[in-house]
Amino acid sequence: MILRETVLKTVEEYDAKNIHITTIGSHSALNIFKGAKDEGFQTICICERGRETVYQRFPLVDRYIILDKLSNLLDDDIQRRLLSLNSLIIPHGSFNAYIGSERIEESFNLPIFGNRALLTWESHREMQDKWLKLAGVPVPKTYSKPDEIDTLTITKFPRAKGGRGYFLANSLDVYERKADEMLKKGLISEDDLKEPQIQEYITGAPVYLHYFYSPLSNRLEFLGADRRYESNVDGLSRIPAADQLEAKLDATFTVMGNFMIVLRESLLSQVYDLGEKVLEASRRIAPPGLIGPFCLETICTENLKLIVFEISCRIVAGCNVAIGYSPYTYLLYGEPMYMGRRIAREIKEAIHQGKLNSLIT
Ligand code: AMP
Ligand code: AMP
Repeated sequence: MILRETVLKTVEEYDAKNIHITTIGSHSALNIFKGAKDEGFQTICICERGRETVYQRFPLVDRYIILDKLSNLLDDDIQRRLLSLNSLIIPHGSFNAYIGSERIEESFNLPIFGNRALLTWESHREMQDKWLKLAGVPVPKTYSKPDEIDTLTITKFPRAKGGRGYFLANSLDVYERKADEMLKKGLISEDDLKEPQIQEYITGAPVYLHYFYSPLSNRLEFLGADRRYESNVDGLSRIPAADQLEAKLDATFTVMGNFMIVLRESLLSQVYDLGEKVLEASRRIAPPGLIGPFCLETICTENLKLIVFEISCRIVAGCNVAIGYSPYTYLLYGEPMYMGRRIAREIKEAIHQGKLNSLIT
């Protein structure tokens, strides 16, 4: 287990004038790198061989660390190299998806912007449920076994998989048939089926809320919102119902992009209330609690109630819709501001105040 004291000591020894903002080349890396550059930092892109060509098309990366596979990030020589470059790691969805929060907690020595323990809370459905219930925010009903299904449900799988292999079922029979189809299509594995996350399906409009908690100013900021664009569920509505029935089409939820959302202004008090509650509960489950970006994934019902079905404790890819501005960052800052830049701004300010240790674990 990597101790916070060890990480803080590492950072004390860093050359604060030569910090490299570092992340894996995928997910929201362009957002993070652009933010780092806007705030005057050097950047490092850790990249799976072959994927660097995309990043080379933008003037954002100062150094590349190319790996044959991303899990090699845990190798001693790679970690030593990153430490020697005063790297500060900004975690995003690919850290959980390709490396795994347990391995990050156990054997990744680099300082991480944010609370590394919460990455594990994010990765386990039961832990997320416990957190959200402790926070007292509205959540969908959860089912521990498929034979408990008594209403329309959505089945999901651990770790950020971008909606891949999710399916709907309103009974055990339908569950078994669809699980089998997903296996045959190669969208899920036998292992995934050992840990299905079955939730009541909430009918309404999905809204993903992007927050930033600043430990330096002890302020919770709402920076924007998005919704996902998913294949095939977003294509189904283009097909008349009769044809859908004839073709026996099932909804799938693989994310391929995102849209920005501007919320009805009267929803904002709920948005801040949910954010504050989840932030407060995070301090009880994993002190010092949330640091920097987090996202509440919600469905807005027809009664304009936001139901929280998931939480992410780091930058989410949906923030990429606002590289530049969202209406809310414009209202707050009056200059280009977005999640990647907000992260870098907080780090810059912390270095200035000699408080970098309040941002990392
Ligand atoms: P990729 O860089 O596309 O390989 O994605 C890395 C990880 O982030 C995968 O687990 C994806 O499912 C997830 N991911 C990428 N883009 C998005 C997005 N727009 N929304 C949600 N998850 C995403
Ligand atoms: P996620 O990967 O958890 O962010 O979910 C991906 C997709 O599943 C999105 O289209 C969500 O709207 C949908 N979804 C997830 N959970 C629920 C739920 N409990 N009720 C309705 N839709 C959901």
